[in-house]
Amino acid sequence: MREEDRITAIKGIGEKAAEELQKMGIQSVGDLIQRYPSRYERYEEPVSVVEAKDGTVCAIRGMLTRSLENKRTARLMLTTTELSDGTGRVRLTWFRMPYLKNQWHRGDAVIVRGRFTRGQFGPSMEQPALFSEADYQPLTAERQPVYALGGKLSPKSFRKWMRQALDGLDLSRDPLPADMRRRYGLAERNFTLREIHFPEDERQLLHARGRLVFEEFFWFILGIRRLKNARERDVNHFSFEKIFWAENLKNSLPYDLTGAQQRVWEEIRRDLTGEHLMNRLVQGDVGSGKTVLAQMALAMAAENGHQGAIMAPTEVLARQHLESFRKVFEAAGIPAECVLLTGSLTAKEKREALRKIASHEADIIIGTHALIQEKVQYDDLAVVVTDEQHRFGVNQREAFSGKGERPHILVMSATPIPRTLAIILYGDLDISAVNELPGGRKKIKNAVVDTSYRPKAYAFLKKQVEAGRQAYVICPLVEESEGLDAENVQDYAEKLRMALPPAVVIETLHGRMKPKEKNERMERFLRGEIHILVSTTVVEVGVNVPNATVMMVENAERFGLAALHQLRGRVGRGEHQSYCIFVDGSGDPAKNKRLQILNQSNDGFRIAEEDMKLRGPGDIFGIRQSGELAFELADIFTDAALLQQASEAAAQVLQEDPELVFPEHAGIRAHMDRMRGTANDINL
Ligand code: ADP
Ligand code: MG
Repeated sequence: MREEDRITAIKGIGEKAAEELQKMGIQSVGDLIQRYPSRYERYEEPVSVVEAKDGTVCAIRGMLTRSLENKRTARLMLTTTELSDGTGRVRLTWFRMPYLKNQWHRGDAVIVRGRFTRGQFGPSMEQPALFSEADYQPLTAERQPVYALGGKLSPKSFRKWMRQALDGLDLSRDPLPADMRRRYGLAERNFTLREIHFPEDERQLLHARGRLVFEEFFWFILGIRRLKNARERDVNHFSFEKIFWAENLKNSLPYDLTGAQQRVWEEIRRDLTGEHLMNRLVQGDVGSGKTVLAQMALAMAAENGHQGAIMAPTEVLARQHLESFRKVFEAAGIPAECVLLTGSLTAKEKREALRKIASHEADIIIGTHALIQEKVQYDDLAVVVTDEQHRFGVNQREAFSGKGERPHILVMSATPIPRTLAIILYGDLDISAVNELPGGRKKIKNAVVDTSYRPKAYAFLKKQVEAGRQAYVICPLVEESEGLDAENVQDYAEKLRMALPPAVVIETLHGRMKPKEKNERMERFLRGEIHILVSTTVVEVGVNVPNATVMMVENAERFGLAALHQLRGRVGRGEHQSYCIFVDGSGDPAKNKRLQILNQSNDGFRIAEEDMKLRGPGDIFGIRQSGELAFELADIFTDAALLQQASEAAAQVLQEDPELVFPEHAGIRAHMDRMRGTANDINL
């Protein structure tokens, strides 16, 4: 087996499974082994019913004392049975899993694992995983990797495929030179990949992870440095003399720019009219008003006879930008034509958009990845803005450059990265900070609560909806997932519908929906036709619905504080008082302490710093900082030391061998070549 082989080279992966894997971005065997676990778990030794502790996840060994029964309720299919072990009985309930009835029978000896509760009606478990004794035993013996899996893939099969791939591949070739590995004490690739998936012990795991984190940083930084070298002498060939449209835009806004916005606009304007091309990162907390800066820059491009583009990470956000641009331009009397280019346009719409772009009928192009992935021909592209930028990388910038003259680049990010780290990461960019929030907003009221608060929260949601407001409820999962004890969007929406009057319109939104469905849902929410949107973190980035006043996050303990801060940024955008309810489902005081940071501060940078202090480098597979940060394992905060080393290593390689022609750099070079042309490998 080779890493380039299609995933179906693995025994047991047929076309159907391959399709599911492809949805997760896994096409080749090499892709598979680079999909790291999101965490590990070791299954508990089974306990008896009397021993089981209320509210904990545990395993209980016993016998099914009743046949499984399927019952259709008004909304979903329930399956129930009972387990007994001589010390007590446990009621077992599943949602939407009627097929269990054919797999398990009365009298079967089983082990069930799930969250155990001693309720009013006796002990029970909801959605437990069911095992035979033989299947369960090995799970207690070693750490099991847990992967974030899509759709219909079974965790068990996925682990099996992973083992097969690792055993079948020759992983002895290492892109990192031996010298570098020695200097920084990095593990070999072979060892690393085995240990990250199936760790023997904590120490080995840490060693493996350290290497992967280093590598992630190294590729990222090397990519940026090379680009910087290539671009150093880029001359600004575009004329940017006229500035009326940008000024008109500014003057027709219903508000004054903040001091910070003014200052950053000056920096942008200077870049556009300067000798060299702009390469600027604009950092500003959620709600600091970055969009209008992009609008002014693009208006200026249009007035000077050029085209400009803005690329958003999601379709929802792209559409929202389109509306906002049109509105603002109209108010300012700017006759620039804006077109949308996204993946979900119909073939006809897409043709029309492409035609307008090529003929320069379109002055401003707003879209997603489609802006570079499709066969887009720009007539005279002078400015490219990437919004919420971490998902866009060096490659995308190169891709734009491949479309005619290299454009000015403006990158906008709300991820709070301290300046020192930002300089290491984005060494080639000039950095501007929009470090001031517009005045006059009502402060968001925060609460960190436990799950017993839910009835109160629901009553509050109801009241807000009756007052004409809207709300988000965020769950970590899309649907029930084996072994993951967290709320999911599907079941939660059902629960909420049962808890609230039918007049309250509750809908779901998540990444597994088709883009068209997602747009439709989001637009209905925007129009106020949906009152409560139960969603995954797809709304995290950039969405702007000023009438939404409540953000309720379930299992808040599972999110990074930066992500929670982004989520919070979805409310408090209008004139009404807004509220944020973080529900801590863990019952763990340490986790709760982390969440309290959010209670104390609304400043993204402060929050990131406090978070870093609390977590420290020991928190290895802790919580991902934010969905917006593109690194798979690395955390720029807690891995800052590795970041520094990787930066050093990259600088040294490029200093000794800028063209990467030394034999010991062949692996590095091959890796860089492979990354070119794939959209997401190096992200910026
Ligand atoms: P972000 O920086 O998170 O992208 P946006 O650009 O979406 O923030 O701006 C958030 C909201 O603040 C928008 O509704 C925008 O119209 C408004 N806004 C931007 N600048 C100002 C300002 N100087 N004063 C008042 N409101 C502003
Ligand atoms: Mg924004």
